[in-house]
Amino acid sequence: MKTLALKHRQGICNIHIGNHIIENELLLQACHPLANHFVIISDSNVAPLYAEPILNQLEKANKKCELFTITAGEKSKTREVKQTLEDNMLAAACGRDTAIIAIGGGVVTDLSGFIAATYCRGIKSIYVPTTLLAMVDAAIGGKTAVNTPLGKNMIGCFYQPHHVFCDVGTLATLPHDELANGLVETIKHALILDKDFFFALDKLYTQKQLSAVQLEQLIHRSCEIKCGVVEKDECEISGMRQLVNFGHTVAHGIERLMDYNVSHGQAVLIGLWVESCLSNLLGYLSDQEFACITNSLEKIKFSKPIDLSIHQLDQLKENMILDKKSVGKQARFVLLDNIGKARYHDKQFSFSVPEKIVDKAFILYLEVNQ
Ligand code: ADP
Ligand code: ZN
Repeated sequence: MKTLALKHRQGICNIHIGNHIIENELLLQACHPLANHFVIISDSNVAPLYAEPILNQLEKANKKCELFTITAGEKSKTREVKQTLEDNMLAAACGRDTAIIAIGGGVVTDLSGFIAATYCRGIKSIYVPTTLLAMVDAAIGGKTAVNTPLGKNMIGCFYQPHHVFCDVGTLATLPHDELANGLVETIKHALILDKDFFFALDKLYTQKQLSAVQLEQLIHRSCEIKCGVVEKDECEISGMRQLVNFGHTVAHGIERLMDYNVSHGQAVLIGLWVESCLSNLLGYLSDQEFACITNSLEKIKFSKPIDLSIHQLDQLKENMILDKKSVGKQARFVLLDNIGKARYHDKQFSFSVPEKIVDKAFILYLEVNQ
């Protein structure tokens, strides 16, 4: 097992990465000093697999503990579900000596983190991410949020958990597409900051199945990269945190275009292709490195392809302006100078790109991939 310490405004978040680590004493030891009363929040798929065993473990250790289960899926990440959970906690007489244990994917950790941030003006929390995406990205860095009908992740705050337990044992039950979602975010981290990691990952995709040790290594390096960025710009002030948004201007535009009926990673995969292409067309990223990237991205497969056509270009461009990085009416993109080196220029981490170049990159994407 490996542990990383993420230093933030209010202290340290310990990130533990290993195999079957939620079954041993470590989780209990982490819980013990945090609170007298525990609320486990999980979803309908994950609760029977991983939350109920943890509830039993805590009850055996004579901890006061409740389990609240939400319906699995993004549709539960709302203000209404947050309110219901808070009401449940109030009814269970949870006070400031309560800690939340969030067990599930990004939906559960984002929502539970927001509750932890606001319940009694802030209570402690532990995350047990059970998707690869949550382990390498969503659960790391203290972003919490809910969605509203008018925008994803628009209501939320920065609030760090005390511990994150990334147990690769839980990934054994994860559907293939969910694993691919996490791999895409991992490639994103490699592309912006670590060339060697990018080429190491590239070799891994050819394998049918990743071993627990390989998963641990991949999660560890990915978390190290994300922690490095978050420590330098926890609350998005200098702008450096925008780097972990590489591929996401396009991805968010595509998700909106498809009415959120695509997996996030699949949209980011297209986003990484198109935004690497922008970097190449602008003369920053070499042809050779762009080819390495596209070769590598091709190896990540999702079960259902996303059908895009040239007729959607205008709508996509309009959607991209709604991205949080936009300034005025102009979309902004994180760009690459090299593999493993995101562009930083004029104290900026994201850039507007001439519309013609955006059109060209999208058309090239369609030519090569559709
Ligand atoms: P993400 O982590 O990708 O943001 P979710 O929280 O929506 O997304 O999780 C994706 C789906 O995977 C949900 O249906 C969730 O219930 C399910 N899930 C999460 N972790 C596991 C797991 N370890 N095994 C099986 N299914 C899981
Ligand atoms: Zn993402």
